[in-house]
Amino acid sequence: MTIPRFPALIAARLSTILVCLLLACLPSKPAPEAADAALARGTAPDEGWLRHGRTDDEQRFSPLAEIDETNVASLGLAWSFDLETSHGVESTPLVVGDTMFVTGPWSVVYALDARSGQLRWQYDPRVPRQHALSACCGVVNRGVAAEDGRIFVGTLDGRLVALDAATGTRIWETQTVDPAQPYSITGAPRIVAGLVVIGNGGAEYGVRGYVSAYHADSGALAWRTWTVPGDPAKTFESEAMERAARTWSGRWFELGGGGTVWDSMAYDPDLDLLYVGTGNGGPFPRSLRSPGGGDNLYLSSILALRPATGELVWHFQTTPGDSWDYTATQHIVLADLEIDGRLRKVLMQAPKNGYFWVLDRETGAFVSAAPYVTVNWSKGIDADGRPIADETLDYAQSPKLVYPGPSGGHNWHPMAFHPGTGLVYIPAFDIPMLFEIDDRFVPIPGRLNTALDPSNYVAFDENEKVEIDAFLLAWDPVAQREVWRVPYVTSYNGGVLATDGNLVFQGTADGRFVAYRASDGAKLWEAPAGTGVMAAPITYRIDGVQYVTVAAGWGGSFPLAGGTAALLANVWGGGRVLTYALGAKGEAPKKALPPPLTGHAPIPVSPAPPAALLERGSVLYHDHCLGCHGPKAISGGSIRDLRDASAETLDQFEAIVLGGAREPLGMPSFRDRLGRDEVAAIRAYIASRNRRRDR
Ligand code: CA
Repeated sequence: MTIPRFPALIAARLSTILVCLLLACLPSKPAPEAADAALARGTAPDEGWLRHGRTDDEQRFSPLAEIDETNVASLGLAWSFDLETSHGVESTPLVVGDTMFVTGPWSVVYALDARSGQLRWQYDPRVPRQHALSACCGVVNRGVAAEDGRIFVGTLDGRLVALDAATGTRIWETQTVDPAQPYSITGAPRIVAGLVVIGNGGAEYGVRGYVSAYHADSGALAWRTWTVPGDPAKTFESEAMERAARTWSGRWFELGGGGTVWDSMAYDPDLDLLYVGTGNGGPFPRSLRSPGGGDNLYLSSILALRPATGELVWHFQTTPGDSWDYTATQHIVLADLEIDGRLRKVLMQAPKNGYFWVLDRETGAFVSAAPYVTVNWSKGIDADGRPIADETLDYAQSPKLVYPGPSGGHNWHPMAFHPGTGLVYIPAFDIPMLFEIDDRFVPIPGRLNTALDPSNYVAFDENEKVEIDAFLLAWDPVAQREVWRVPYVTSYNGGVLATDGNLVFQGTADGRFVAYRASDGAKLWEAPAGTGVMAAPITYRIDGVQYVTVAAGWGGSFPLAGGTAALLANVWGGGRVLTYALGAKGEAPKKALPPPLTGHAPIPVSPAPPAALLERGSVLYHDHCLGCHGPKAISGGSIRDLRDASAETLDQFEAIVLGGAREPLGMPSFRDRLGRDEVAAIRAYIASRNRRRDR
């Protein structure tokens, strides 16, 4: 674990956790009248946005239709709220009563008047900035859960916190992970039958995945279900783990294994099944993780759990023996579809591996699958629904260009299902990657342990033979075919909202918020968002007025590490909540960060540093810095471009990188990871990139 910068503060927090453990966090009741009154006021289920995916089936479809295809052109900005951040914004707001609950970076919760955007309260869980080192994909958060006058948020450093919805006062807090391991929480909790369900991330770093449920009233742990087996020499936690262990070999448990539940869940109250998606294997290549092969259950799988106990009822593995970071944590949607003349209760998912899946959600039986983007890792699906891997693209021995790359064909950005059109709207993309095992790889506890050569991320930005295609895809899940698509300039466009006004709303990477006709994809309206949009919009109605809201803000994995490909979006960070209504005339907010290459004259470097130093600096840079500062020091627009580092920044380089001088801004100290000579080499490399505009 890293050395905390504010030991007293951390000690105080740890002692709170210890007290919680000892007392099982006995609830101190919130002021129930105030909270419940605020929550209940005027919220018919169709009017608010009460759950992460609006409803437990996570369709992200709203029956509201005051705004429709005939009048959407008169939509305008009703209000905006500045999140005062340049980090990524991935939050789906909730609207309960007349209050909107939205999260920003560092797991901060904002309660806003949903009519005006006025701040009612703000809760900052004070995530130690050092924890950015354990978050693969930015210090992002995807939202809260709400129930009975309480708001629940998972924090980047692994805590689950319950707040009084009326005041933002903390009711209880519990640590859901071992703080000594590089777990993180970026996903939204879900509420199922009085329990708060939360997973975590960290497969890239070497952790063992699990999902937990806590009693909403007390914060006491109800159950924990592991997704991959631990050391077989010890007792298995369940029969499911014992079965899973037969599909692994070697000493995977020393590396963690992966399979983290970092995002998607859905719930069917009639079947009483909770569905969770599990993540990729760690390290990425199966050959290094489980040298004898095997499916490595339950990586890259959909798990159906009994919500009262966490017991595994069925599983479906979308990528057997994952070697490509093909998580199945992408958005899960439940719907009833007529297939071959009979109504089927199905579960749908477009996971990273490029296949659109339709499963029977009662039994887990395979219904159908088809590639929704370019796929070459697999040659097709067998009769049981098992993908057939193309062995000629196995990269265990030599590098292979594989579609999709580790970003997948679709990432965390939620899709939407419209029961009227019968279509699923997927924020999809084609981004391949050259998979190549880093021959220097040795697992180091707490570090990024993918085992892939990080320099191949440059393929995102400079390999002219590789094109990035990104698009909004309207997909017929019954026929398993594309119906329409809208192309975009680059990847990481926003999540999707569908409404009964025959509309689909989506923000774009290039800074627009757009409405399309749901049936044919015709663009009906757009407005500038002032920054890249990745999160999914919501809609709600108060006093007869329908509003549409999106939390905008460019950042997270692709904007941080996508280099030139992310710069194609031509936007800069600047998180804000944007709310629209018919006839509103608000002014579009301005860009928050200045574009690159402003404000500084080129910095002369003399004498030229030796080539060996620059080479060493480049290797160290791509090992330690790429994840946030981009390949070749090219920022994708979320944080300041290191090629524009000022002379002052370069002068203070060691104080920043080792001393933690910019920790309050989110730049953690690398004092536990890098020595002074290594930092000097990285500094020389970054200085050599000063003002460079080659790719
Ligand atoms: Ca991953």
